[in-house]
Amino acid sequence: MRYRLRRLAHRPPSSTSSSPTPLLSRTETGEGRRSFPSDGLPPQNSASTRRSPSPSRKEAATARNAHLNCPLSSGGRGSGPSRSYLTCEVIAGVAKVHPTVRVLNRGPGPPPGIALIKLIQGEWRGAGVSRVPKLVTVRLRPSGGIKTWLRGRKLADSLAASWLLGYLVYRVYERLCRRLDVERVLRPVLPGNHPFEKKPDNLEPWETRGCVMPDAVELVVDGDVSAEEVARIARETVEDVLEDVLKRGRETPWRCHNVSLYEPLEDWWERTSGRSAARVELPPGLIQVSAAVVDLEEPDDEEAYREAVRRVASLVGTRAEVMDARGSGGQPCSVCGTYPTVGDREFWEELSERLPPQLLKRWEGGFERLCAACLLKRYFGTHVIRSWYLEKISWIPSTAEVAITPVKVGILNRWEELKDDGGFREAALGFLREVLPEQLRQIAHYLRCVKEVDRAGELEEAAKDLKRDRLEPEGLPEDVRKELHRLTPKAPRLDEELGDVEDSLIEVLLCVEGRFWYDPEAPGGLRELLEAGDLENLYTPYYALLKLDGDRMGELFSRDPETTRGASRATIEFGLKAMRIVHGHYGVLLYCGGDDVFAALPLHTALDCAFELEETFRESLKKWKGTCSAGLAVVHHLHPLRDAIDLAYRLEKRAKEAGRNRLAVGLYRRNAPERVAVLKWEADGKRPWGLLFELADLVSRRAAYHLPRDWWEGWWEELDEPKNLLRSLLGYVALRHRGEGADEGEIVGLVERIAEVVGKAGPEDGDPGAEVGRALEIALELRSECPAGGNGG
Ligand SMILES: [Zn+2]
Repeated sequence: MRYRLRRLAHRPPSSTSSSPTPLLSRTETGEGRRSFPSDGLPPQNSASTRRSPSPSRKEAATARNAHLNCPLSSGGRGSGPSRSYLTCEVIAGVAKVHPTVRVLNRGPGPPPGIALIKLIQGEWRGAGVSRVPKLVTVRLRPSGGIKTWLRGRKLADSLAASWLLGYLVYRVYERLCRRLDVERVLRPVLPGNHPFEKKPDNLEPWETRGCVMPDAVELVVDGDVSAEEVARIARETVEDVLEDVLKRGRETPWRCHNVSLYEPLEDWWERTSGRSAARVELPPGLIQVSAAVVDLEEPDDEEAYREAVRRVASLVGTRAEVMDARGSGGQPCSVCGTYPTVGDREFWEELSERLPPQLLKRWEGGFERLCAACLLKRYFGTHVIRSWYLEKISWIPSTAEVAITPVKVGILNRWEELKDDGGFREAALGFLREVLPEQLRQIAHYLRCVKEVDRAGELEEAAKDLKRDRLEPEGLPEDVRKELHRLTPKAPRLDEELGDVEDSLIEVLLCVEGRFWYDPEAPGGLRELLEAGDLENLYTPYYALLKLDGDRMGELFSRDPETTRGASRATIEFGLKAMRIVHGHYGVLLYCGGDDVFAALPLHTALDCAFELEETFRESLKKWKGTCSAGLAVVHHLHPLRDAIDLAYRLEKRAKEAGRNRLAVGLYRRNAPERVAVLKWEADGKRPWGLLFELADLVSRRAAYHLPRDWWEGWWEELDEPKNLLRSLLGYVALRHRGEGADEGEIVGLVERIAEVVGKAGPEDGDPGAEVGRALEIALELRSECPAGGNGG
């Protein structure tokens, strides 16, 4: 165990940090304050209990640390604010964790005289130390920021990353509340759970709130606390949690597997012990902990609070550094591409043979090779999270699953009508006979991998029978059907709705995994099924990633303590609603820090979901007239997820740059240039995006070819009455390419309304006409992709 200290940068003492403390202005007494038992030890909980031999190591390290001449130790006192990095390595059983901790100190405390003055005022509660309230801020940032942290090959990777981060913050928050003399929690204010209303032991379990958690904790702490102490508590918590996740992953069998995935890793470690790579070492600086403590003489004084927040921001910074571990030898991870992989080539080759393809992808000429961070997310994170919370969701859907959801929902919604349709039943059985044997075989392979040999045998027999047409998919034995059900990803909510339907055909049909719906091997059966069920207009290989973020939230969180508290409560309540909204639209909520939401959605509900989220956001923050911006990236389900995440984040940024309070939609077709348009959520009480999608419903797709790109580019400002021109041009094209059975009057009315709002809907600078042209193109293309989608109207 060793601690290394590196001093990266020094800042000269800033004028603000040493501004004189208003000595006599503090009049409030300490009454009404209650504090936590600050004994320091959290309850006996495996997630937060330090295991031996860590304490002794820690003590030793602390002792060593004290010798070092740096601002973290006593030598730094009085030398002004400074920035240091403390890198510590903890060998925690199997893991070597290196959280990088940035410790920031405010520098000199108030002069000793203050204690005396306070005594005279009857406010002194300390013994010789200044008891000035402090604003304590801790921020947890993954290396490279949230976007990088969420990167993965599977949606499950991203979800696990998000949960892990939320859980870390929650634990840090909880432990700080226990250990410090907390006067007031500014954020996160968890609904119904103000620590003063309930004992910390009764904090609402994190599990029930899902991943909704901001990345920062802000507390007003009464009395003397140093940044290094706060950082130490946070850092220890991070270490404990990561260690615990690894441990749990090791001890608990996977829910669906009855076998520990840790086994092959264990084997490998044993075989290779003595070799340098024989450990899972989390990359250095994977989770960066920043802590700042500044004096807050008057917690209720707005100006003092603003000043304190400004000081914290200048200390903590706003961007996460990227801890790039490339170049330290080894292959880069095939999932994140950032860190070197764990183990060697042979290890992954062997592992990919032992593990089912759902868990570790093997493709022609290669296999997945993960770094320690991605390993933590996929194997340990996903597993532990599932055992905590995702009992209801047997599997986290894949991108293909999200993309095929419109068809599955269509079948479910129209089942009453389809179930008696002989043609549809025949087509459905044909499709199932084509794809089901392969799916059953893959599940059997999976079961064999996890040593459920009997079940695997049953499925293999059923697969053979299906292939020979001896077994009707409808007549699949009960236990085979159950196996299918248990091991197949389904869109959230689909399971609940299926609960009422008593028919094995639909059950089996919905159990066909997303990727089999895109299997080029079964084109005939699929086409017949779609035709017979009139489902073609729901079939699409595309899905959407939605990134939504509150506008100017930083400003809102730095006004005054009560606003911070209120806004924190409101954003977390919004986050909880967002979880339900996304779920209700058959989507997967991948991340939610309160005011920001990141979700994967099927195409037919994506726009409706975005509108509902925006409305809910506005409603939740109406006290402060809060608005939000969002990016909706429509991507192919085979598009690498980590790039797709980047696209959604980029779109959201574009919506902000165009003037905020806007929705940017981007269409990323394969082999086609990207299409992006940004429009306001609302103009004149109407939704411009909704109007354009409505128009796209009435117009044939050919219209898109007659809207040359950048049609209106540059014209807008030249015209006296641009909206008249827009009305004429749009009306001309729309009427000329009127869709079958579309009402002329309706088209004219829509064009009229679009022309009316468009000048108010476009970007703040630039050409609203061109934006509408691009938006209409996107709407037309998306409609041709998934015509039956909603339009938020
Ligand atoms: Zn990785």
